[in-house]
Amino acid sequence: MTRERTLQRIHSEITSCTKCVLHESRTNAVPGEGPVDAKVIFIGEAPGAREDETGRPFVGRSGKLLRALIKEIGLSEDDVFITSILKSRPPKNRTPHKSEVLACKPYLEKQIEVINPQVIVLVGGVAISNLIGPWKLGDAHGRFYEANGRTYFMSYHPAAALRNPSLKDVMREDFVKLKQELV
Ligand code: SF4
Repeated sequence: MTRERTLQRIHSEITSCTKCVLHESRTNAVPGEGPVDAKVIFIGEAPGAREDETGRPFVGRSGKLLRALIKEIGLSEDDVFITSILKSRPPKNRTPHKSEVLACKPYLEKQIEVINPQVIVLVGGVAISNLIGPWKLGDAHGRFYEANGRTYFMSYHPAAALRNPSLKDVMREDFVKLKQELV
């Protein structure tokens, strides 16, 4: 089976998944989007209202900011795969429960395995703590971290930058560091 077909198969499993309670309240599951040969995967927390409506990742206000920052460093949609820890929206955007993360994480692990990116970018504390362990965001942002045979890079979640606009420039500086490491 081609890598593309494998990724499609994972995504069709996600769209019909009932492994945790979130399937009861979602409109659409949101597997993620981008090419199977993406060199960077961006991972956020969970779909929000707009993502739930459309089935697409990072298409609400914070998604637009993330996509703009990606573009600013010269990466195109063909270079990146965008997804989140959870593939279904938690009601009222509450923080994911541990049991939901445990149920959903195997999908993300399979996506990472088949895409095999150069760098995995974790945006926000939920993505960081569930993939590589707890970090203080103030210490973590702008840093690369090697774990599980992979290279991770950490930054703020764009939703935080919408709440606190000064973080936009911090994210922008982080993303410049990311770009410098990409070959
Ligand atoms: S959040 Fe993940 S595990 Fe839960 S129903 Fe959605 S796809 Fe399945």
